[in-house]
Amino acid sequence: MNQLSDTFGRTHNYLRISLTEKCNLRCTYCMPEEGIPLKPKAHFMTSDEVVGIAKEFVALGTDKIRLTGGEPLLRKDFSEILYQLAQLPVELTLTTNGVLLDRFMEELVAAGVKSINISLDTLIPERFKTITRRSDFDRVQKNIELAQKNEIRVKINVVLMRGVNDDEIIPFIRQTLSSDVEIRFIEFMPFEGNNWEWEKKISEKEILQTVFNHFGSENIQPQNIAPNATAREYKIKGAKGKFGIISTVTHPFCDTCNRIRLTADGKVKNCLFSSQETDLLSAYRNKELITPLIIQNIMQKEHSRGGLDMSKPELVQLHENRSMITIGG
Ligand code: SF4
Repeated sequence: MNQLSDTFGRTHNYLRISLTEKCNLRCTYCMPEEGIPLKPKAHFMTSDEVVGIAKEFVALGTDKIRLTGGEPLLRKDFSEILYQLAQLPVELTLTTNGVLLDRFMEELVAAGVKSINISLDTLIPERFKTITRRSDFDRVQKNIELAQKNEIRVKINVVLMRGVNDDEIIPFIRQTLSSDVEIRFIEFMPFEGNNWEWEKKISEKEILQTVFNHFGSENIQPQNIAPNATAREYKIKGAKGKFGIISTVTHPFCDTCNRIRLTADGKVKNCLFSSQETDLLSAYRNKELITPLIIQNIMQKEHSRGGLDMSKPELVQLHENRSMITIGG
């Protein structure tokens, strides 16, 4: 029985585990320009601690685990963690920037991973360099194809930013006409150090208007919203793939939220925007029971966005939260 229900009656069965605060890209909306100060190794969960704490969540009712980062594939013991978690009765998924995916494809398939989210914010190599401050565009493209060849469902996460890549909405959607890929447009969200401003995001409304203007609203088919969905999905008539919009800023989907986060330094976070974190790692290392801490943290969960009203920039500025790289999305 799932014991992870909050005061709004939402049941939490989906755990997102950040495996590292390191990344091999430097995306402008995630990583502060100056990088983040790296904490001593002892602050982070070892592979045994990741698996041990995950088992506690599974015992409480978690049945889906997503591995995130930073860049999870950078962890030297990623294979060990993947193998161990694959023994648990959970659906295992991954969010990656795709650069190193070719090195782990066989293991991911062997571990039963059926779906991978790959972050790619542009289809223009030069622009990739500007956004990520690295030049791995071709490698990411090749690894998307490799994942599809291995029959892994690929979802492409695209963070839309005004004046940066908002002119690529249609080119991304065109990818779905001939390929069974899912493009997910993400409204730019505020995190520590990413210079977020309300005007910089491209809203769900603007995205849909752009799509309607180009394809004609009669050719856009809304898809059924799955329980606990994080995106509202659409399909162009006759297309193989589909696109979705993750509108956390203007049209959040918190009513059915089933997500909990475990940070690389072993803190449980009941919402992407919550500044209420509970340290599980210290308790775990002291051989104390961590399940009461997890349940208590969930019971403190706000209904939406950690209680943050994003339409009030002054509140966003004051809101304490981590940088995206130390949460893992
Ligand atoms: S903003 Fe928080 S409550 Fe809303 S869907 Fe995301 S994690 Fe859940």
